Amino acid sequence: MYILDTSAILSGKIHGSGLAAPPGVVNEIKKGGRAWRMLEYLKAAGLKIISPPDYSINEIRKAAEKTGDAANLSEADIEVLALAHYLKATLLTDDYSIQNVAKEIGVEYKGMMEEGIKEKFQWKYRCKSCGRYYNKFLPSCPICGGEIKRVRR
Ligand SMILES: [Zn+2]
Repeated sequence: MYILDTSAILSGKIHGSGLAAPPGVVNEIKKGGRAWRMLEYLKAAGLKIISPPDYSINEIRKAAEKTGDAANLSEADIEVLALAHYLKATLLTDDYSIQNVAKEIGVEYKGMMEEGIKEKFQWKYRCKSCGRYYNKFLPSCPICGGEIKRVRR
């Protein structure tokens, strides 16, 4: 079974059976918009709306406090995590805070926007001597011969 958060529904990349989402996600989606149309489509295709139990929600809140993600998580995000935890399902989300808490509590997750993640965490290479940036790794700086170090853009 797969649990969807709002980003997963919006991706438009989710199809098939064995899908569920908590009521918080449904409430978060504005009626009539693109996400709402995707949701209607998924519901027609068998998406189940399931409430996670309170004890599972409490567990997620504790974990989110521990990882420092609590302030970045909406009620819907907490429910998504709690439901995946409760059902031992795989979470489909592109939200980094949700993924972080999922890791903490041992919930499996998958992102949909692979290109998006690559874009965000694209590495650059920088010469330690002259400070020039390169798009790919080089054994040494072609300008000054300095050492090349990988840096986050
Ligand atoms: Zn250099």
